[in-house]
Amino acid sequence: MSLPFCNVALPVPLRTTFTYAIPDALRDSVQPGSRVLVPFRNKSLVGVVVECVQQAPESTKIREISKVLDFLPALTPKLIELGHWIAGYYLAPVGEVFRAMLPPVTELRIERQIVLTDSGRAAADKEAAASRALNPQRHALLSQLRDKGGVMPFASAAKVGLDDAALQRLRRTGFIEIRESMLGRRAKTQRVIAWKSVAAVAEEAAQGDAFDAKTDRVKAALQARGPLPLAQLLRVAQVSRSVIERMLRDALLESWDERIDPAEDPFDAGYVPPAHELNAEQESALKLIRARFELGEFGVLLLHGVTGSGKTEVYMRAVQETLARGKTAIILVPEIALTLWIGRQCRAWFGARFEGVAVLHSALSDVERAREWWRVRNGEARVVVGTRSAIFAPLENLGLIIVDEEQESSYKQEETPRYHGRDVAIVRAKMENAAALLGSATPSLESYHHARSGKYELLTLASRVEQRALASVEIVDLREDFAKTHQTSPISAALHAGIQECLAQKMQALVLINRRGYSWSVLCRSCGASVQCENCSISMTHHKQRNRLECHYCGSLKPIPKQCPKCQSKYVYFFGEGSEHLEERLRKEFPGARIARLDRDTARTKRQYQETLGAFASGALDILVGTQMLAKGHDFQRVTLVGVVSADSSLSLPDFRAAERTFQLLTQVAGRAGRGELPGRVLIQTFYPEHYAIQDAVKQDYPAFYERETQFRRVMAYPPFTSLANVIVRDTDLEKAIRWSRQLSEYFSPHDGKGLRILGPAAAPIAKLKKEHRFQFLLKSPKRSLLAKVLSGAMSYLELKEIPETAVLVDMDPLSLM
Ligand code: ADP
Ligand code: ZN
Ligand code: ZN
Repeated sequence: MSLPFCNVALPVPLRTTFTYAIPDALRDSVQPGSRVLVPFRNKSLVGVVVECVQQAPESTKIREISKVLDFLPALTPKLIELGHWIAGYYLAPVGEVFRAMLPPVTELRIERQIVLTDSGRAAADKEAAASRALNPQRHALLSQLRDKGGVMPFASAAKVGLDDAALQRLRRTGFIEIRESMLGRRAKTQRVIAWKSVAAVAEEAAQGDAFDAKTDRVKAALQARGPLPLAQLLRVAQVSRSVIERMLRDALLESWDERIDPAEDPFDAGYVPPAHELNAEQESALKLIRARFELGEFGVLLLHGVTGSGKTEVYMRAVQETLARGKTAIILVPEIALTLWIGRQCRAWFGARFEGVAVLHSALSDVERAREWWRVRNGEARVVVGTRSAIFAPLENLGLIIVDEEQESSYKQEETPRYHGRDVAIVRAKMENAAALLGSATPSLESYHHARSGKYELLTLASRVEQRALASVEIVDLREDFAKTHQTSPISAALHAGIQECLAQKMQALVLINRRGYSWSVLCRSCGASVQCENCSISMTHHKQRNRLECHYCGSLKPIPKQCPKCQSKYVYFFGEGSEHLEERLRKEFPGARIARLDRDTARTKRQYQETLGAFASGALDILVGTQMLAKGHDFQRVTLVGVVSADSSLSLPDFRAAERTFQLLTQVAGRAGRGELPGRVLIQTFYPEHYAIQDAVKQDYPAFYERETQFRRVMAYPPFTSLANVIVRDTDLEKAIRWSRQLSEYFSPHDGKGLRILGPAAAPIAKLKKEHRFQFLLKSPKRSLLAKVLSGAMSYLELKEIPETAVLVDMDPLSLM
């Protein structure tokens, strides 16, 4: 039944797949989901087979697949379906969608084994002649397999004359399975201890021997958490190794060696996850999640819990229950730094008990990422923790997808394919009949709207754990500060005093600023010109240590000008503080403090993140300065002061989400303070203290903010009341960009006003980006299906008018209109 042709998605910016012929020798190996090497124009590309077909289109010359890369198809059928959905919904080139879903192409050393199944064993037991489905060679292989205990190395198949194709057929008939495992990993192991069995306990109890206190603690720990690595058990139960040895000898415990997870980080050693008793609110949230599992069908739950209300604890239990039901789970987090933290918790919770936890994010090397990916694909890991693209993790039998801090803009990919990780999570959950659990202290307006309307189920954690108070938030009016001091410093007098006090108490402070670099604008005092990037209509950022100007949009570099490039004046002026400047300033003002900075310049690798965050968590630092990556999720117990240097810089952007972003950021940041025993204090520096986004953030009142903001959105016809699409026409040649915009406008105009508003074309807010001139259309409609119809019509129109596909960029559900 193998088909002669297949359609392959290739990593090219075109909205189509390509048909290739399958050579006879590869017929059995090519399946939907297989990665293949194919000739394309005059080169070779790696693509993925999305379907096998009987016929090829007649018009073109059909070429052949040159190689199949995987024995086990890389993508599951469900993931192929998801890829098609993404390509359709986001109008993205299908090959680029699948490229985003696939693991990096690297050579991994893989060990394959052939495993005999039950039906294979039955076939082997029959006489060779009696079995019609099997030729003698295949029968010989099955018998050999049976005689060797059911498992043999892949390579031995060749010795009995069976090639890959024959093995594939045996696999499909269900006689064998292929098991893959990665080689070349550090084969480190750890000792895992488990409570032996219920029987042993009963026996002991029957003998009337009461356990001593130490034995009891070990028993309690193991019964509550299941098997634990030895090092962890010693800490949890507070006993010495000899106690464990004795209990092993008495056969109360059993032990085995287990491979250590390769994704494990150095801070794992001896880490003991908190296992709190759930409070009433957490318990009732979990109950609703459990009820959803019991229904066994798709549903979205929104967990709205104030900062420090113990959402992570609820996540862990939800995953635990998912695993107990034999299913798998994905946890998406918005930042790489959080994958470390949540990953560690997951390994501590599930690593020893189940096959393991995989971590996926972009700061891993290609080899590391490919390894983790294949570990998941081979069923070695059943929990995946990762950033945005981990939503494509090739888990089977998915039961739960958690999206932590679901409102975060980092879930949106701002390059093709422009998908939103949270929305894809919901679609995937639906396809897989799984539950989606969105969590946040400040849900996106969209999600909260759906929860209000009953489309999602709302779970609420209204107070912090242990009745801890929310941090007190105070506004520092920068206008008053300036009137008093007549100085411009990123650190106001109030913030300085706050930090001073915090240091005196030997506690820790976080200071946030929303830009990296030293100063983000370079201006001439004589003529007013600012130094702009040559490729983009954006001013360049001064990086002092690197001693140069950088464009944060295209990465281009310039030496620091000694004079104005326009009027040659010497009065070049740098202004607008960035994180580098703030760090320098803090070092000057607090010479005795131990200070570090965390932003994309200082933390480029996983190790750098780990080192800085680890140092801060362990108390080796007093002040951590950084960009918003500090605002999210971290649970630092000794932070009593959080300073926000400029709260309003995000408010002035021409963006309908400006207020929402500001409110979210401030609330999240405030949530980092006072998570331990001591209360927290937050100082927000701003020039617009009256703005409702700031006022509601001070009160940390989400429902109040939601009410005000939805009024504005409703009146202005913005999401969640309208669907939006942003269409950008771009080219390095200004004339072409203008001509194409006009043409597209001719197509759009007749649709305007018919259930659809079409604004534009207008120059985009960033009129030039990476050398391309940009014009923008904004499409609004309360009916998403209408929007989709008009847009797909636009795609056909482009083809008709021979406007290159790459010149038109569609951003469905844009997060930002910049
Ligand atoms: P959130 O993500 O909601 O901001 P976390 O999940 O980080 O909050 O939890 C905050 C702190 O509360 C953590 O240190 C966690 O260990 C602790 N915690 C969670 N649940 C409980 C509980 N039921 N009792 C006591 N402490 C808890
Ligand atoms: Zn000048
Ligand atoms: Zn640039």
